[in-house]
Amino acid sequence: MSAALEVRDLVVAYGKIRAVKGISFTVNHGEIVTLIGTNGAGKTTTLRTISGLVPVESGEIYFQGERIDGVPAHQIVERGLAHAPEGRRIFPRMTVEENLLLGAYSRRDSGISTDLERVYTLFPVLAERRRQAAGTFSGGEQQMLAIGRALMSRPKLLMLDEPSMGLSPMMMRRIMSTIRELKEQGTTILLVEQNAQAALELADRGYVLEVGRIVLSDTGHNLLGNEQVRKAYLGED
Ligand code: ATP
Repeated sequence: MSAALEVRDLVVAYGKIRAVKGISFTVNHGEIVTLIGTNGAGKTTTLRTISGLVPVESGEIYFQGERIDGVPAHQIVERGLAHAPEGRRIFPRMTVEENLLLGAYSRRDSGISTDLERVYTLFPVLAERRRQAAGTFSGGEQQMLAIGRALMSRPKLLMLDEPSMGLSPMMMRRIMSTIRELKEQGTTILLVEQNAQAALELADRGYVLEVGRIVLSDTGHNLLGNEQVRKAYLGED
């Protein structure tokens, strides 16, 4: 069977500046794969390109064996690839439930209310406040809402951009354990994180990006123990 996601020799540029300089990686079905790297390494650009929000300069992207670079973003979501973007991007004036239902806008099946309940089970705080305007939420709550909304498209592959950003350590642990739970329920996950420790503890495999290139790839476990990674990303001397 083909990989869930395969990226081949991807180059992405903003004008003359190349943010992604020829990267290749795969995500297999059922895996959590993480992309780690410092600010500006090209992680967000990579996710936005896979989602169809930024055009490819060269290279190829395959989702479940089918080429998706050049496919409009809304069709990519419909095929089962969801993206919870960095900075949350929720709609502040809409209620929690309205935000969640937006994630299911392209679905025509009858399982939407079941999935809504599933999101409320994962994140009880969203259930308690389902009629409240989302703009009143704390950063962590908005993060849960963004993940919940992405789940409402019932994705085969979920891409998460910096889900731990700005969260308290306790909230971060909750988000990380939710990601683990989603994997156990069968969702394949591509996780972008600056918090390399948390991401590598969770991930089956990881890729290290530096200024638009992949410089290392290994299992999460091995990367956690890798001296170069420990020095550059885990704050060790
Ligand atoms: P961060 O963790 O800070 O978000 P990142 O690894 O996700 O970093 P990107 O946001 O993908 O990195 O940025 C990669 C490079 O592309 C950076 O040099 C950035 O300044 C540049 N860049 C990102 N978005 C744009 C844009 N819309 N226009 C021009 N340059 C951009």
